[in-house]
Amino acid sequence: RVLVGTKVDESHANWVTAYNMLTGIRVAVSRTNAKVDRPLTDEDFEVKQKSTFDIAGNELVPSAKYDFKFKDYAPWVFRHLRALFRLDPADYLMSLTGKYILSELGSPGKSGSFFYFSRDYKYIIKTIHHAEHKFLRKILRDYYQHVKENPNTLLSQFYGLHRVKMPYGKKIHFVVMNNLFPPHRDIHQTFDLKGSTVGREYKEEDLENNPRATLKDINWMRRKRTLELGIQKKKLFLEQLHKDVRLLQRLQIMDYSLLIGIHDLQRGNEENLRDKTLRVFNPGGNSAEDNDPNAVLMRTPSKLENQRKARELRQMIQSEKPVPMNETDSRMPDELDEGHSRPGFIFNQDDGGFRATHEDNSPADEIYYLGVIDCLTHYGIVKKLEHFWKGLSSDRSQISALPPYEYGERFINFIEKVTMSREEAARLAQQQEEQ
Ligand code: ATP
Ligand code: CA
Ligand code: CA
Repeated sequence: RVLVGTKVDESHANWVTAYNMLTGIRVAVSRTNAKVDRPLTDEDFEVKQKSTFDIAGNELVPSAKYDFKFKDYAPWVFRHLRALFRLDPADYLMSLTGKYILSELGSPGKSGSFFYFSRDYKYIIKTIHHAEHKFLRKILRDYYQHVKENPNTLLSQFYGLHRVKMPYGKKIHFVVMNNLFPPHRDIHQTFDLKGSTVGREYKEEDLENNPRATLKDINWMRRKRTLELGIQKKKLFLEQLHKDVRLLQRLQIMDYSLLIGIHDLQRGNEENLRDKTLRVFNPGGNSAEDNDPNAVLMRTPSKLENQRKARELRQMIQSEKPVPMNETDSRMPDELDEGHSRPGFIFNQDDGGFRATHEDNSPADEIYYLGVIDCLTHYGIVKKLEHFWKGLSSDRSQISALPPYEYGERFINFIEKVTMSREEAARLAQQQEEQ
């Protein structure tokens, strides 16, 4: 159970940025959560809370190692969202606290975004384009409403929206969201599916060097893969996906995909995962970092230590004290050691994921970890991004700007077509043969 990433420590190029991101989150989240809960107001959706950090500190902002400015957007809305997603505030802070704070899988993909994992791999920080940031603020009300009405939504779970700015640096916007993949289970195969074939292939010959690369639509079809769900689970999954896609269509969003991580129960967790080329995920799938020799192994700390740490953090939140900066040990929350089912969440019911079933609903041999990701691209932005990229590279044909309604239809039709139990797939193959 060893996880790999590039540890962001003081020698890392993005150490200061990462440190400031986490410091800002910690102060902002503990500030909001220290207050007595109250219902949301219309204004809550517009709020921007600005803090200036420096070595000296003041009564509102504790002293920090570096000078930077931090903005927390709609803090009360995100507090409520975290509650809807049933995150424990102390647990959230603890995940985003500490010295070996993050591991970076930061090779900028097509979009230029950087990805960081919290040290327990439960959360992902993704830097986003300014247009995506503005768009999320614009749709926040609809998103919030949707989550309220659909606790089992498959859409990315957003836990926070922030901005850091260092002296003379540019503004960096980022979101905190759920890592779809579990820290405690090997993901044997990953697919990122859009229902399109244009540019949707990971080169099979590269798989040898990077066996855990994220595969795409064409690879999926070549393998004649299906999402093996029997009658009951298929219905649950497709119904929720329909609702989610309808929202995306209404908000004119496109370019999203269904991310599927497959844990093969026959293979289980392998011992030989100390291979340093392993990636828990691999944004873009084509990074130079795939063979990064600096990849660092992360280990789980003792459970007792973690329990003590969680207690301390809870007390701090209750006593309304800001969490101090020197909470910089390398321990991780004990959740790594525990079962990962999230009670009450349909798609996390089986060891944190959604177990494959046969037609008669009896369990099959795979666990799926899935969700709809990259859902902040507004139709209007696509044009801008296209323009932006033209200056950087000549091969920009991949971005096919299909209008959002058609995009959604193509997406859902594809997923619908490939969701079937093994038995259903066999019957279908039989029928095709007979024709
Ligand atoms: P592009 O716009 O070029 O598709 P991007 O920078 O917007 O790229 P995403 O599509 O959001 O990036 O994600 C890229 C890859 O990162 C995904 O294919 C997946 O492997 C991984 N990834 C993204 N979000 C998550 C998540 N919530 N949990 C686990 N893995 C994720
Ligand atoms: Ca994407
Ligand atoms: Ca994107």
